[in-house]
Amino acid sequence: MAELQVVVLAGGVGAARFLGGLVETKGNDSDITVISNTADDIRLFGLQVCPDLDSVMYGLGGVESSDRGWGRENETFNTLEELRAYKAEPEWFQLGDRDIATHLIRTQMLDAGYSLSQVTQALCKRWEIPATLIPMTNERVETHVVVDDPETDHVKAIHFQEWWVRYRASLPAREFLTIGADVAKPAPGVLGAIGSADVIILPPSNPVVSINPILNVPGIRQALRLANAPIVGVSPIIGGEVVRGMADKCLAAINVAATASGIAAYYGPRSGDGLLDAWIVDELDETSVKEISQLGIKTVATKTLMSEPGVSKKLAETVLELANQVTKAKDA
Ligand code: GDP
Ligand code: CA
Repeated sequence: MAELQVVVLAGGVGAARFLGGLVETKGNDSDITVISNTADDIRLFGLQVCPDLDSVMYGLGGVESSDRGWGRENETFNTLEELRAYKAEPEWFQLGDRDIATHLIRTQMLDAGYSLSQVTQALCKRWEIPATLIPMTNERVETHVVVDDPETDHVKAIHFQEWWVRYRASLPAREFLTIGADVAKPAPGVLGAIGSADVIILPPSNPVVSINPILNVPGIRQALRLANAPIVGVSPIIGGEVVRGMADKCLAAINVAATASGIAAYYGPRSGDGLLDAWIVDELDETSVKEISQLGIKTVATKTLMSEPGVSKKLAETVLELANQVTKAKDA
């Protein structure tokens, strides 16, 4: 039998953890393509930093920091200390020494004319990751957040990283803008992977700033809608709350309830004008299964807290099983 073609739309940590489980259960007999959000990307100190691409690369390479949730394990921060001693701006962003090597190579290659796809492929070689990691686009796209400037009270747009890291998402967001998305093109391989997929997965990710920017690149949402493969998502909510991070602050800004059903309705049923064939909610949110099913989305409840041993593998199995059921029901 041909290998199972799996496509995963990815933010950072949630996707990286899920992918670990997917590889454990299907690593040898599937072909996994990860389409990464790049709208978190930012240029700092002359370095091109791609947080979501790196979270997946380090995660699948087995070298991510599990406690910090970003960057490398066994990291040191000597360069950062020196930058701070010079009072170099911005002072709110952290960069580890090992991590800086990645950004140096990336920036050097980009400046030499390689595309972000090519650079990503080159970086991934070292880690021998069991998946093909591609950026959503090779063009510059950035999430900016419209806020009231705390110093002047004027409305202004700031880079997502400044809002998230500097202000810890505490400035009320009026709006999220995916700057550059309207004129961006999907990176090579993105539409092809979606079109030839057997299953498409939305792992637990921030819907507003991780998945939405990917969907905002012209052509991607439509390719997902037209794909033969079932689309299965996993709720980023556990027991009515976000797991880590501040995704609830993002959802509030776009008037979406930070609940398993709120996010399912936001993505919408494939049978309507949305994306989801199936949706997995946490066992603590089991009471929402009926309501979500009534939207026309096949919904099941199971354990989804992936920091617990064995859960991400089991979750990946459940996703593939659900996808199988959707495919069978469609073929029947
Ligand atoms: P990033 O790492 O900040 O780029 O964020 P992601 O796009 O990866 O999204 C993280 C989202 O996934 C957050 O909204 C969390 O609520 C959710 N999340 C993180 N870990 C888990 C988990 O183990 N299980 C579930 N169900 N959701 C999770
Ligand atoms: Ca991210």
